Amino acid sequence: ALLARIDKLNPHLNAFISVSDQESALAQAAAADQRLAQGQATPLTGLPLAHKDIFCTQGMRTSCGSKMLENFVPPYNATVVERLAAAGMVNLGKTNLDEFAMGSSNENSYYGTVKNPWDLQAVPGGSSGGSAAAVAASLVPAATGTDTGGSIRQPAAFCGITGLKPTYGRVSRWGMVAYASSLDQGGPMAHSAQDCAVLLNAMAGFDPKDSTCVQRAVPDYCATLAANLDGLKIGLPKEYFGEGLHADVAAALEEAIKVYESLGASICEVSLPHTHLAIPAYYVIAPAEASSNLSRYDGVRFGHRCQDPQDLEDLYKRSRQEGFGAEVKRRILIGTYALSEGFYDAYYRKAQQIRRLIQQDFLNAFNEVDVLMGPTAPTPAFDLGANTQDPVQMYLEDVYTIAINLAGVPALSLPAGRSGTRPIGLQVIGNHFEEARLLNVAHQFQ
Ligand code: GLN
Repeated sequence: ALLARIDKLNPHLNAFISVSDQESALAQAAAADQRLAQGQATPLTGLPLAHKDIFCTQGMRTSCGSKMLENFVPPYNATVVERLAAAGMVNLGKTNLDEFAMGSSNENSYYGTVKNPWDLQAVPGGSSGGSAAAVAASLVPAATGTDTGGSIRQPAAFCGITGLKPTYGRVSRWGMVAYASSLDQGGPMAHSAQDCAVLLNAMAGFDPKDSTCVQRAVPDYCATLAANLDGLKIGLPKEYFGEGLHADVAAALEEAIKVYESLGASICEVSLPHTHLAIPAYYVIAPAEASSNLSRYDGVRFGHRCQDPQDLEDLYKRSRQEGFGAEVKRRILIGTYALSEGFYDAYYRKAQQIRRLIQQDFLNAFNEVDVLMGPTAPTPAFDLGANTQDPVQMYLEDVYTIAINLAGVPALSLPAGRSGTRPIGLQVIGNHFEEARLLNVAHQFQ
């Protein structure tokens, strides 16, 4: 039924880049039925899902939204893909994204723009826009996403679903195509915090194949969903409620905070004084890491290769020129510039120092409060094309999400109101490894 629904609605939404064929989906479903009959089912067994097309899937194209990987069929599964399959989930396909996860609107994909199911004139957010749109339009009940600077939370907010970026190191990055390795983190996108908790139970945990994956027990994220919020201390960072916040977003947040007060939480103002430095620091660090990660696409080992190269340099140049889109090239240029001799101290080292200050801001705040709340994005979903001519304006969309990745802490976005038909997201931020609390806080609202 879902494959038929994808068939019918995907031409309007463009949420999927690849759809599983019926035979493979039915074979996975039959295996799930068998497990059920044998009493070996998990809560996820037989449930369909889709993967952001940045997770390697054995035998199924993994394009990363790029022409560069148009014909790349991985010989192995990402750890996240492997774990969700092992839990019995049925993979229905791969979702659209900004090329190499670089973007906030899903307008940078080689496979075309994704549309927001709530308003086809609006962007779905990015870079996990295909996953968010697919869940919002009920093409799948759940999807995976990745978040380097907001790419799970902001599309979740724009499409009216729930999305969680776990603590850096909580979920394995093995088999997840690298954008900015010190910031990238995979996580669940679904209708509710409860659904995200079930998914995270299967996704999280140590993986010897990822050296940054943390060896730490995984709690049962479902066990604490029902805990009451009496005495919870919520901090509102004053920097998140300033100029540039859309009136409808501010109003929706005010309402949500009243709900939390009525649930027994206490509210106070806190400060994250280095917030204004997050965008400049991120847009040095992320492109610097990207320029290094993307040097592997040289036309030699895999990915796009130009026709009839004259020599090795011509092969490199033309393969990369033809394979990468404009935004990816912009990031590679910024990154190689920031890392080049003579500029390293002024840009990359400085950005890393700022990163430490930003992390300290969060640690200080969590000495006073249990969680932080604020908007996920400054505006509801904007119109298609509204920011495509102005990259800086597009980067400013990330103002409330990016610092969280620099600090490595977890955060989720949950639906909390609307502006017309366009959904608004409430962001809940926690200290390192406090995913259970975030899911509990979101679940009590839902
Ligand atoms: N919008 C940010 C960027 O373009 C974040 C993207 C992401 O989280 N992958 O880099």
